[in-house]
Amino acid sequence: MFLYSSRKKTAEELPEELTAIWSCSDENCKGWMRDNFALSSTHQCPLCQSEMVKSERMLVALANTSPIHHKVGE
Ligand SMILES: [Zn+2]
Repeated sequence: MFLYSSRKKTAEELPEELTAIWSCSDENCKGWMRDNFALSSTHQCPLCQSEMVKSERMLVALANTSPIHHKVGE
């Protein structure tokens, strides 16, 4: 007798986490960026140059892909 277990395809499921982002204040614009990728203290939409507001989104967790690295004890 064969028993098929209902295996989940966990390998294809990337974990999501609540991530700090900046989103465009213009509701007609879909511009947004991860807080990690915001390079300056002034947050301006790259699409329409509107001001951006801090927000949060569920995003696939990234591991150390931020261009900003904190080098510790090298
Ligand atoms: Zn925008």
